[in-house]
Amino acid sequence: MGVGVLLRYGQYLPMTDATPRLTLGEGETPLVRSKFLERDLGIKELYFKLEGCNPTGSFKDRGIVVAVAKAKEAGHHTILCASTGNTSAAAAAYGAAAGMHCVVLVPKGNVAMGKMSQAIAYGARIVMIRGNFDRALEVARGLADEYPISLVNSVNQHRIEGQKTAAFEIVDALGDAPDHLYIPVGNAGNITAYWRGFTEYRALGKTEHAPRMMGWEAEGAAPIATGKRVDSPNTIASAIRIGNPASWQSAERARDESGGDIATVSDDEIVEAYRLLARREGIFCEPASAACVAGLMKNVRQGLDLRQSSVVCVLTGNGLKDPDIVYQVTNTPLEEATPDLEAVAKVLNLERAGSAKR
Ligand SMILES: *Cc1c(COP(=O)(O)O)cnc(C)c1O
Repeated sequence: MGVGVLLRYGQYLPMTDATPRLTLGEGETPLVRSKFLERDLGIKELYFKLEGCNPTGSFKDRGIVVAVAKAKEAGHHTILCASTGNTSAAAAAYGAAAGMHCVVLVPKGNVAMGKMSQAIAYGARIVMIRGNFDRALEVARGLADEYPISLVNSVNQHRIEGQKTAAFEIVDALGDAPDHLYIPVGNAGNITAYWRGFTEYRALGKTEHAPRMMGWEAEGAAPIATGKRVDSPNTIASAIRIGNPASWQSAERARDESGGDIATVSDDEIVEAYRLLARREGIFCEPASAACVAGLMKNVRQGLDLRQSSVVCVLTGNGLKDPDIVYQVTNTPLEEATPDLEAVAKVLNLERAGSAKR
């Protein structure tokens, strides 16, 4: 337990004897059976892959650990990324663990508080870019071309390699691939990585089939679903607020080769799924993660029959990353009382057991 993806799946990764065996205990995340939605939607088997349980709270750790280890092996001292938040949190953590400098470019004013505080805590050099994520990534790519710095965005193929291990884990846990994989799509590296993982395992005979890849963009940031890039992407789900995905073509290949789909959900649908996951399943994930569950609910409402199907939803990040959103989307008043038993009981409208008889 807790050996990390480089040791656990090293034989499938671009490792050499010189690659440092870096780990913060990433991977081996829980695959939890649904308690409510499975029955409510009439699905044979529904599981949630809890990627928010990774060391920095998102799946980015799986790819970053490989990218940072390879950067270290190449003799670089500095890693660089553009980020909507989770990549920078992961890069900052693994950079610190590897004894490297980390520079992150974030879209000014558009990064969730939890993610920003991680990058600061881990000691990254943070530059706020007065522009959106897509612009920040263009700048980062240019810098990495001209200076001796390793770019650890998912354009770095080591990221995709590391992230494919989540697909391996799902097959290893279920004994086979699920029939459908539901996954949020932003820069589209993760859907690319899962498809690579499932097809590699299929080629090795570890699973007979590969799942249909069901990717979900937010309506206001849906370049792949609509077929054209979005200049000012907008959604409550900041981790998928991306208008020109770096892995656009490989995401389309994953969709087409798997017989899947990449479609959209509205922010209202995302929020509905986000609240339901917390309140009916006991799972607190990011809004971006909830997008794939919103997509599943939408597909079933529109008539997709999953009564004979196994489904895995990839819950990409931890809800604590973006605490402000909870207050934005729920209007539960916080109640107060003086510190005595009677006062609190009164606020709660409690009645003593048997009090009616007395
Ligand atoms: C990065 C991220 C995504 C999007 O993944 P891509 O590989 O960019 O498509 C979704 N959810 C969370 C929480 C993320 O951090």
